[in-house]
Amino acid sequence: MFCPKCGSLLLPKKHDGRKVLVCRCGYASGDAGAPTLTENVTRPDAVAVVESEDAEKTHPLVDAECPKCRHGKAYYWTVQTRAGDEAPTQFFRCEKCKHSWRDYN
Ligand SMILES: [Zn+2]
Ligand SMILES: [Zn+2]
Repeated sequence: MFCPKCGSLLLPKKHDGRKVLVCRCGYASGDAGAPTLTENVTRPDAVAVVESEDAEKTHPLVDAECPKCRHGKAYYWTVQTRAGDEAPTQFFRCEKCKHSWRDYN
C-alpha cells in the first residue's frame, strides 16, 4: 500500500493497540476506515494570551503582582480553554505595563 499524498511505501505501526499504516511524510491510515491521524490535536499550551484592547473597561482590577514590572494591580478575567469539567484559566493584565499572563491556579 502506498501513500496517497507522496507515493511512498506505507509502514505498519501500532497505535493505541491498533494497526495503522504510516508514511514518512506524516500521513497515517487506519486499516478499517479508522479516522486519519492528524497533528491538529488541540494543545492547551498553544492558547495565546489574547485579549481585546479594551480589557480595562470590561475586566475587574484585582490585587495581583505583575511578573514583569512587579506592579500590584492587574485586570482579571477567566477563559474556559479546555473541557467543561476543568477549571477555567485565569488571565491577568498588568494595569501599569499591560503585560498579560495566565495562572493555572
Ligand atoms: Zn507520504
Ligand atoms: Zn507590569
